Amino acid sequence: MFNNLSDKLDKALHVLKGHGSITEVNVAETLKEVRRALLDADVNFKIAKQFTTTVKEKALGQNVLTTLQPGQLMVKIVKDELTQLMGGDAEGINLSGTPTVILMSGLQGSGKTTFSGKLANYLKTKKTKKPLLVACDIYRPAAINQLHVVGEQIGVEVYSEEGNQDPVAISQNAIKHAKSNGHNIVIVDTAGRLAVDEEMMNEISNIHKAIQPQETLFVVDSMTGQDAVNTAKTFNDILNFDGVVLTKLDGDTRGGAALSIKSVVNKPIKFIGTGEKMEAIDVFYPDRMADRILGMGDVVSLVERAQEQFDEEEARKLQKKIAKNQFGFDDFLKQINQVKKMGNMKDLMGMIPGAGKALKDVDIDDDAFKHVEAIIHSMTPAERTKPALLDASRKKRIAKGSGRTIQEVNQLLKQFNQMSKMMKMMQGGGGRKMMQMMQG
Ligand code: GDP
Repeated sequence: MFNNLSDKLDKALHVLKGHGSITEVNVAETLKEVRRALLDADVNFKIAKQFTTTVKEKALGQNVLTTLQPGQLMVKIVKDELTQLMGGDAEGINLSGTPTVILMSGLQGSGKTTFSGKLANYLKTKKTKKPLLVACDIYRPAAINQLHVVGEQIGVEVYSEEGNQDPVAISQNAIKHAKSNGHNIVIVDTAGRLAVDEEMMNEISNIHKAIQPQETLFVVDSMTGQDAVNTAKTFNDILNFDGVVLTKLDGDTRGGAALSIKSVVNKPIKFIGTGEKMEAIDVFYPDRMADRILGMGDVVSLVERAQEQFDEEEARKLQKKIAKNQFGFDDFLKQINQVKKMGNMKDLMGMIPGAGKALKDVDIDDDAFKHVEAIIHSMTPAERTKPALLDASRKKRIAKGSGRTIQEVNQLLKQFNQMSKMMKMMQGGGGRKMMQMMQG
């Protein structure tokens, strides 16, 4: 996420490292680079200029009052300003109303349908709500099917009406259906066009007026940079929406949309999408994002993701197994799956302070565990529960079955043994303490 911008800001802020104090000259030099970094990230020219002006005033004003090194001071000021630029505090969504009606708007391909599913899944698991998804795209039957597929995947009912050409009526009927079937959240996915056009704007505006949603979200593809900001403006003029959803932040986006949108429409970014899977949704926290942009990592989010996947019951079972020396390869596989559910590996690395930068050129394969899984899958159930059974001939069979080498099989066994040993050691106070820490 935002690798290029992070890099350039890092270089810009480095200029001050060797200096004993902040002066007009070295501040100007640093800020010229900061501005260039922002412009390269596709941040609007005016916003970039305003940004550096504010940072300059603060830097020169605070210079004498602090014991921080000039470099550190500048990083702090830039961080605070980036946070402000992206919205200051995190803003949740309004869940009032029975049911709460949430309307999705945005262009086709922005990720509306995917995000509708993610949000339904998020509200269902986090806030124990009973959502209903509504398909309002009357132009593309494929879009309705797509929502049904998503709904099935996450176990959420999808409302659609075959043959009905009136999206306003469909959305109103859906709300009636929700009321009589105990749904307390209605998420309305609307049709999108490839570009803004009048007909589409009228349509969504009519739906908006008819259903009066508690929350209207504008979904936008962050890869589209300045275009994202322009589209946001058009939609906001018509809908006066409540918040923005930035999708595809897992891709190679430059960051301009994230940094400009709040200033232009004065609406908060509420959620981000970081992948195609239903779990790839995060509440947007401006300060954490600023930390990530400046390569300071985002340990809070990392721990939160771990917590989400943390299942106390499973953990207790696991502890028992370890204590009895029964930790086997099936448990190992489960652990791997938990890590995988936390998200894309490169993204996770980016949350560790310093690691993002160090690893930016390393190609971290999302399938890093594929070989390990193949090897484990080639073991018999008996071998998985009792790894001690693995003698030379069995190893040879497993290597052949999984298409890996004997060395790789041996290496996995070694890792497995080390991990078992470590887990056993942590069984004392250490392990429990760690779990407590994870639970905050
Ligand atoms: P819609 O036309 O606005 O409903 O957009 P879709 O939900 O169909 O999304 C368009 C494409 O973007 C699909 O291929 C999605 O899988 C993909 N997509 C959506 N959100 C994300 C995201 O956060 N990250 C990535 N990498 N892809 C996404």
